[in-house]
Amino acid sequence: MCGVPLRDGRKSPRSAVVDHKQPAEIRPDLFLDDENTWSVCFDCHQRECRRIEDRARSMNLWNPRGAVWIAQEKAKVPFICLDGRIAGSASK
Ligand SMILES: [Zn+2]
Repeated sequence: MCGVPLRDGRKSPRSAVVDHKQPAEIRPDLFLDDENTWSVCFDCHQRECRRIEDRARSMNLWNPRGAVWIAQEKAKVPFICLDGRIAGSASK
């Protein structure tokens, strides 16, 4: 897991990306829902979020029911870079 504070800007591997907890591909209606989005660093997004989503696909859970499962699995990952836990530390 990362543990490095998010940085501003898009070129750092620790730059923040917005992840949709329930994938937007399955739930486009939740695309702009604040409850369904969070910021994680680029590396964690590539590694952890993709891993969970790939697992869902392989388990035939790429559907609205699976989207809930995906969000639950993401909630179990001890991201340190999440919104809130790094409040105020993203700049500098
Ligand atoms: Zn991270």
